[in-house]
Amino acid sequence: MADDASPPTRRPAASVEVARPPKPEEPKRKPGATPFLLDFYPLEDERSTRVSRFFDSLREGRFTTTRCPKDGLLWPPRAVCPECHTEALEWTELPGRGHLYAFSAVLAGAPLGMEADLPFVVGLVDLEGTTLRLFGRIVGRPWNECRIGAPVRVEPYTIDDGRVFFRFRVDGP
Ligand SMILES: [Zn+2]
Repeated sequence: MADDASPPTRRPAASVEVARPPKPEEPKRKPGATPFLLDFYPLEDERSTRVSRFFDSLREGRFTTTRCPKDGLLWPPRAVCPECHTEALEWTELPGRGHLYAFSAVLAGAPLGMEADLPFVVGLVDLEGTTLRLFGRIVGRPWNECRIGAPVRVEPYTIDDGRVFFRFRVDGP
């Protein structure tokens, strides 16, 4: 039991500098690059994501996703089926074409890092021969010349820091 009469013990202020482990080095990012927390796809390599094959295929010009033997096509590509939880998924190639189901023009208030792209178009694309309706950037046509139903094709592209992603290019009238 504590002795109530004794004054509270005070520890002297630490006079010895505690050795701290060195700060981990910040990942190298280009000046002006999107801050890490606002970057939805920061990691594409095999050590960082189990769907790295999606990005590797994109680099080779192929648009792929995973398929569950029981539940069919999954989008986005996954390591585990969200329905039956199997990890026994297969990679499959997707058609690189589709039609614009809907679109919207971003004329102001662009997300950080995309200010220089204004105005730009985002939209939903029905991928040919599938039930997939995918969201993405739409390029190749000014926003006021885009039309619902326009044919588009998947276009892989490399961004400044070496990562790869996809967008849709309007491919005809
Ligand atoms: Zn499944």
